[in-house]
Amino acid sequence: MKTGIDQDKKTIALMVKIYCRHHLKAKNIPDDYLELIDYATKRLDKCKFGAGKPACKDCPVHCYKPEMRRRISEVMRWSGPRMILFAPFAAFKHLYQSLFVRVHRK
Ligand code: SF4
Repeated sequence: MKTGIDQDKKTIALMVKIYCRHHLKAKNIPDDYLELIDYATKRLDKCKFGAGKPACKDCPVHCYKPEMRRRISEVMRWSGPRMILFAPFAAFKHLYQSLFVRVHRK
């Protein structure tokens, strides 16, 4: 069964891809952005909140190194509002999960 963490990993990877393709105009994901996806994935694997985790942006701990936090925030700020354009199904799925599934876990 997919967890919120699995879903978050997919969403972060998708948002980085959207950022690279549409903002950086890169045909392939540059190495430093692959590194960012890998870093975020590893943070999620080690998340102390487990399946009941909050959204990383609302996390009281925030386990990212400052530079990685700055980079992922930049990607989220650009890709977040554009998800509905470039990946509408994923955007609705993420929104549904954030609003309903996680609320019911509390
Ligand atoms: S930022 Fe917070 S919620 Fe996100 S992975 Fe780190 S500890 Fe977990």
